Amino acid sequence: MSSFALTIGGKAVTTTRQFDVLNPFDESLAGRCPEATIDHVDQAVRCAREALPGWSSTPDAQRAAKLMDIAALIEREQAQLARLVTLEQGKPQSGPGANFEVAGAAGWTRATASLELPEETIQNDNVARIVIRRKPVGVVGSVTPWNWPLLIATWHVMPAIRVGCTVVIKPSPFTPLSTLRLIELMNEILPPGVINVVTGGPEVGARLTGHPGVDKLVFTGSIATGKKVMESASHSLKRVTLELGGNDAGIILPATDVEPLLEKLFWGCFINAGQTCAALKRLYVHESQYSEVVERFAAYVDKIPVGNGLDPQTLIGPVSNRMQLDKVMDLVAEARSRGARIVRGGKKPEGRGFLYPLTVIADATDEMRVVKEEQFGPVIPIIRYGTIEEAIRRANSLEVGLGGSVWGDDPEAAARYAGQLECGTAWVNQHGAINPMTPFGGVKCSGIGVEFGVDGLKEYTTVQALNVAR
Ligand code: NAD
Repeated sequence: MSSFALTIGGKAVTTTRQFDVLNPFDESLAGRCPEATIDHVDQAVRCAREALPGWSSTPDAQRAAKLMDIAALIEREQAQLARLVTLEQGKPQSGPGANFEVAGAAGWTRATASLELPEETIQNDNVARIVIRRKPVGVVGSVTPWNWPLLIATWHVMPAIRVGCTVVIKPSPFTPLSTLRLIELMNEILPPGVINVVTGGPEVGARLTGHPGVDKLVFTGSIATGKKVMESASHSLKRVTLELGGNDAGIILPATDVEPLLEKLFWGCFINAGQTCAALKRLYVHESQYSEVVERFAAYVDKIPVGNGLDPQTLIGPVSNRMQLDKVMDLVAEARSRGARIVRGGKKPEGRGFLYPLTVIADATDEMRVVKEEQFGPVIPIIRYGTIEEAIRRANSLEVGLGGSVWGDDPEAAARYAGQLECGTAWVNQHGAINPMTPFGGVKCSGIGVEFGVDGLKEYTTVQALNVAR
């Protein structure tokens, strides 16, 4: 089994304490993770601060070239990184799983390298020359969750490094191993201290997010933790980007031919066993075709192999950890007790591990917790509606607004309804498609700020207006 270390100031740092990272498929040991202390966080922030002047003044083209080299290195190490992701997180090697995640990390890194933030001239006449410059915000503290550990780490650190910031990242204690390896690899290319990694749970996380030496926080995780992160940022008025929970609705318009849409509907709901922030988590279907859609969807679900992510046949892996599995089982039990029909799944297989079947819940209502709360697991409640206006009102009734989708035979009509959804991304005839050039973020309690594209890059900068009198 490989050994893992923190990386601080360009050096591998071992720790006195370690903790176990479990393989969610069978609870075997995926690896032993070094456990950082508060002192390690302080050291990492100090190293990031020391590296800042050199990195922020490195020519832009050189920083872009380093990111291109990192993308190539991620590709070279694809097999090893993808195996680590499967071992610690559970997602399969095949389909939109661990290899897809690592390839995405390389692709996103390359796309981020290609982005530019040129100076903007606001005025240039005989009164004044006014230009807007974007400067790196400083030291960035990044805290990531366990669902897409490598990809979310990439989304946090690459734009920061691209614009000249230095970074300390703390991955989730459920899935730290692929991030430790990624940062080790990045340190083969970047100067010492530009990217540092510490590990641990809430205590180490809170030290990083409250650290006076950190200028900006980027956090992806639950709304509850996001609020704490924002509070700790307030002491020194750190900038924040928060990508938080969602409970995305999908609405199928009346009389839609669903058969050709089933594959996209399925992956919209169940990619990564539903453990995706912008997965489709509540499916609204018109009463006139409700039974037909439930039946067709359930028949599609039957075709998808669920199991050990290391088996190349598997397309959906286990739930990632016991905490999440318990939550999912609780929500399904509550729906059942309130009269929902469990059309597929709904029962954990005997034995060790966190495997849970793909679960389709019919006759779900808005009062059920599985509809009101984010299930973040392989479970989809299907809900009846009467009019489109009512479906949109119900879709918008929650405090979250990450994504949403409308499905129908006429994409332009569907797009008009999608525009009425209160969410950061509105999809038509698909759900969850993202790309590195399109800003992504939530409204309401789903987050603050955006990632990706030029807008995402700007979040790692401050504006300086230079005003030269003539
Ligand atoms: P979580 O909030 O429990 O943990 C996220 C991270 O925060 C972990 O690294 C954790 O150790 C750290 N943390 C915990 N307490 C902290 C504290 N007090 N201060 C600083 N850091 C602290 O979330 P999770 O269970 O890992 O992830 C699941 C949630 O993340 C879901 O709600 C999901 O919707 C959301 N999510 C959102 C997006 C998005 O882009 N919007 C993406 C992925 C996941």
